[in-house]
Amino acid sequence: MMLPAIRLALARVRVNQPGSGHSEDRSAEYPGGNKAMRSVRSALSYLIWKLKLNPPLPQAARCTSFDNFRLFMASPANREADMVAFEVGLLGTADTFTVPGYCAVCDREAAFLVDYQNCYATAPNGRRLPNWRERLVCPHCHLNSRMRAAVSFLLSASDLDDTIYLTEAVTPLFQVVASKRKQTIGSEYLRDGTARGTMNAAGVRHEDVTYLSFPDEAFNVIGTFDVLEHVPNYRQALAEFFRCLRPGGTLIITVPVSLWSPTTITRATIDVLGNITHLLSPEIHGDPLDQAGALCFYNFGWDFVGALTEAGFEDAGLSMFWNPRSGYLGGYQYIITSRRGSGKDLRGT
Ligand SMILES: [Zn+2]
Repeated sequence: MMLPAIRLALARVRVNQPGSGHSEDRSAEYPGGNKAMRSVRSALSYLIWKLKLNPPLPQAARCTSFDNFRLFMASPANREADMVAFEVGLLGTADTFTVPGYCAVCDREAAFLVDYQNCYATAPNGRRLPNWRERLVCPHCHLNSRMRAAVSFLLSASDLDDTIYLTEAVTPLFQVVASKRKQTIGSEYLRDGTARGTMNAAGVRHEDVTYLSFPDEAFNVIGTFDVLEHVPNYRQALAEFFRCLRPGGTLIITVPVSLWSPTTITRATIDVLGNITHLLSPEIHGDPLDQAGALCFYNFGWDFVGALTEAGFEDAGLSMFWNPRSGYLGGYQYIITSRRGSGKDLRGT
């Protein structure tokens, strides 16, 4: 039996969660907004956190389109210049350093590890900048900034007994989620001849995200993290995620998005015989199952949100945040969320 006060607190905090609608208002809330309301919200978040009902979410602006994002960036709520100055201030001369903070996944203080692996950006003075999104690694759960944020959103969007599907199975992220949500299924795109829906000798399940073996409406939550840019027919994957989500279920995605690009850039194409044509220089990302890495087919733009809507999802958009205490640095970070509506299928209407 849930106490009324706790129920109220939950309802209040859920307003700040991904996929809960109210998207137009929220861009104006960050990081200002009504002070009294913010302190009430923060107190309730703390209550929820202490009751272990949900991990705290980073404070987020919600942008649902390129125009929406442009308006936010032009508004006084945009603190990007302060954020960049803060980040540059963290840099010393060492190749490796730590940023003190609090890991929401581990529920404990953490010295987030930063180094210059996979860094590509430079400050205006020419100084190299860490790839904050892929670093800030928690020494306890071993998840980087992007993964910790994804797990935080995923746990907040699910209850303890919810069914969850992740498009990964051999990663620390999968281990963390499976330890907190017992009905979690993960899969990899295996290339060892394992049939879809079955496991190989190592106990790893094979699935093709464009042709999943699961029945309709099998999951409450689906999470796919930095996978879809490697899937030539990613729209078919979105259709499969829609099919396999229960009405009211949440899809949580990370993919690299060029925030200042309204449209997606196709880097490579593949034909029915598997022949790849490179339209731009090959961009290879790390792959836990293949040392050669995985080819990136797309640099997504804001039309990715439109692709979610076209696949039938509702409330599609980017939850944007920046929070040094939680180890979310590197300018505005984002998680893409959308929801399968609880009512009729909106595709084609
Ligand atoms: Zn951690």
